[in-house]
Amino acid sequence: MAEGQIRQSLSGFYDVFSDGEMYRTRARGNFRKKRVTPLVGDRVRFESSSPKEGYILEILPRDNSLTRPPVANIDQGVVVTAVKAPDFSTNLLDRQLIALEVSRIQPVIYFTKTDLIDDQRYQAFEDLAAAYRRLGYAVCLTREPFASTGLDQLRELLADQETVIMGQTGAGKSTLLNHIAPELTLATGEISTALNRGRHTTRKVSLMPVAGGLVADTPGFSSYDTLTIDYRELGQYFPEFRRLAPDCRFRGCVHVNEPGCAVKAELAAGDVLQSRYDNYLQLLTLLQNQKPVYHKKK
Ligand code: ZN
Repeated sequence: MAEGQIRQSLSGFYDVFSDGEMYRTRARGNFRKKRVTPLVGDRVRFESSSPKEGYILEILPRDNSLTRPPVANIDQGVVVTAVKAPDFSTNLLDRQLIALEVSRIQPVIYFTKTDLIDDQRYQAFEDLAAAYRRLGYAVCLTREPFASTGLDQLRELLADQETVIMGQTGAGKSTLLNHIAPELTLATGEISTALNRGRHTTRKVSLMPVAGGLVADTPGFSSYDTLTIDYRELGQYFPEFRRLAPDCRFRGCVHVNEPGCAVKAELAAGDVLQSRYDNYLQLLTLLQNQKPVYHKKK
């Protein structure tokens, strides 16, 4: 029995990388009975008599998993964001960041289409990038789209990490992947995502070695699942709110109407972005009105 990581899944076969070798395996029937589907990125125990034939025996505990793309144990998510066409909104950006934070995935922001805006507008994005960097997020922003400084910065971030690329349709996910890993020869224009939609049987998912790390070759996360968190937890997924919360007068402060709220104090002082606070309030209302999600007992 050996341990390895699933690097590709296709039509019921799982390619497991172990000790420098790739093994083609299948999942034992007991996974289907337990309704567990092995995911690309899963660390597994398997047995094999040859590199072409083997069985997955056990899936080791996951750090996290995503449905779009279906991958597990992701460290990092690159949020590809167009500054224009489609129009930029901090709301969408923040929602993507929160979705990653909830899955315990470190976000990286990569701005595209900077050739479509003038210098004044570009300066506004420089300011915004600086604000998000202060939150602890890496931000790639260059005056020319896909300039080498931005790509080099991203390649450095990819090393030793398992990364997914996400973003709105038209943001340029596939183009970015083509730039950092031309050998993947992805169809641009998000064609690969469109083809994958709704057809599970033919879907191929892989983790490709890129710049010393692994990148999921299927861009995903183009639409967003409902957040299944309690509204009282939302502030934990805003790094600046998380940092300030211990200074709020009341334990469990949700930073709306409570007196002595440290978040609102910093907002008034201009140290918390108004857009972040507005987006927080909007998400909070959404979560408060959301019907509770019940999970069936296994
Ligand atoms: Zn507060």
